Amino acid sequence: MSTSLDAILSLSKRKGFVFQSSEIYGGLNGCWDFGPLGVELLRNIKESWWKHMTYRPDVVGIDAAILMHPRTWEASGHVQQFSDPMIDNKTSKARYRADNLIEEHIARLESKGKTEQASVIAARLASVQTNEDFHSIIMEFEIKDPVSGTTDWTEVRNFNLMFETHVGPVASGDAKVFLRPETAQGIFVNFKNVMESARMKPPFGIAQIGKSFRNEINTKNFLFRTREFEQMEMQFFVPPGTEGEWFEYWRAERWNWFTRLGIDADHLRRKPHDKLAHYAAAAEDIEYLFPFGWGEVEGIHSRTDFDLQRHQEFSGKKLEYVDTATKDRYVPYVIETAVGATRTFMAVLCDAYREEEVGTADGGTETRTVLQFAPSLAPTTVAVFPLVNKDGMPEAAQAICQSLQQSFRVDYDTSGAIGRRYRRQDEVGTPFCVTVDGETVSDGTVTLRDRDTMQQVRLTADALEAEIRRRLQA
Ligand code: ATP
Repeated sequence: MSTSLDAILSLSKRKGFVFQSSEIYGGLNGCWDFGPLGVELLRNIKESWWKHMTYRPDVVGIDAAILMHPRTWEASGHVQQFSDPMIDNKTSKARYRADNLIEEHIARLESKGKTEQASVIAARLASVQTNEDFHSIIMEFEIKDPVSGTTDWTEVRNFNLMFETHVGPVASGDAKVFLRPETAQGIFVNFKNVMESARMKPPFGIAQIGKSFRNEINTKNFLFRTREFEQMEMQFFVPPGTEGEWFEYWRAERWNWFTRLGIDADHLRRKPHDKLAHYAAAAEDIEYLFPFGWGEVEGIHSRTDFDLQRHQEFSGKKLEYVDTATKDRYVPYVIETAVGATRTFMAVLCDAYREEEVGTADGGTETRTVLQFAPSLAPTTVAVFPLVNKDGMPEAAQAICQSLQQSFRVDYDTSGAIGRRYRRQDEVGTPFCVTVDGETVSDGTVTLRDRDTMQQVRLTADALEAEIRRRLQA
């Protein structure tokens, strides 16, 4: 893909999609703020997921607290195992994830055509068991620090990615809690509450959208890997023995959601996991082709009854389904779908970005930047312009604006030549522009312009709402 991340970053800031967090203080690494247009796009993505996942009788939603009882994270394994292998360069003081450092070295070798050496190192990486194994690959193949150019490395150590904080006024060990590194545990601990209160029985799912926090060693690639991000997760609880068919079902459903978001299927691929966690029956990622290469956007996991069993063990509470008719009881198996809302936002933005050569009114050509979002995701659905600021046009345009904003997010723009106004809306992905001109004042008709084809049609202002609705559903 030719789109560069720099072009997307610059557009994001210039137009108010995403800003660096606390930028006036120099920013905070790995944290980003969503601006006026970004917040709309993000909400539209989350809304689309919520509808796709919960507008069905067998899935219900929750919104659990970010702070949870610390035992949760012992039961889930995060206290013990949620760590990445970290290595420091003593000269530059730069810190890396050891596996990423090796992967990037492999990619560099491949790009230089040294494929044989790259595959030898890749094979070694695939068989790593311990931190010492990472270290010996780095030393043996003399992998240099990209910053200092030296091989002056520390040992490889584990670094737990959970952020810690304290509840209450005394920062003692007893009061230590974690910011959740995933939303899934809020679902597992509420399994029984939800099953009983919502009168659900397996197979059924619980969905949640919310913030998660990971103290990632290296944040990079814009929204791809951040320290604070948003996830959309669903745990589907099924009778043991049916997990295989449900895994297949959710694999297909989740793929469909991405293509329905308007993402080009050629920029998506499925990646089954090479190594499965000891409890997992199956796992597959959906990857998107970002400007820097393929990267995971969603994981679909068949997790057996591991999570509920662990919470039973640690809480001492039964987490079973009991069939009142047959008296059959079991701990359900779980199919999990876990997608990053903010990572999906980035995929949607990258996929929508185009620079196109288009004709101008005087017969020349110019480059237009356009965000070809699916119309239903666009931050602004319709922009309304009076052709000139006189002769009753602003009043007519404002009346149209007020009527359309009952149903859609509307922008109103009076400044500059009409062609410039169209370009500004193209750049932020507004699918429809309505222009009010002299004829509007005399016969009530307006022009409706389509962002992608740039075609204009004339219709009465009264027919606008229905026509825009029709096009949103097309
Ligand atoms: P990765 O291997 O990229 O660190 P993961 O396999 O740890 O991701 P999961 O724990 O399965 O990710 O989380 C599910 C989804 O949450 C990911 O597919 C991704 O979209 C999102 N996600 C995870 N970590 C981050 C992060 N640091 N920044 C943004 N999104 C993230």
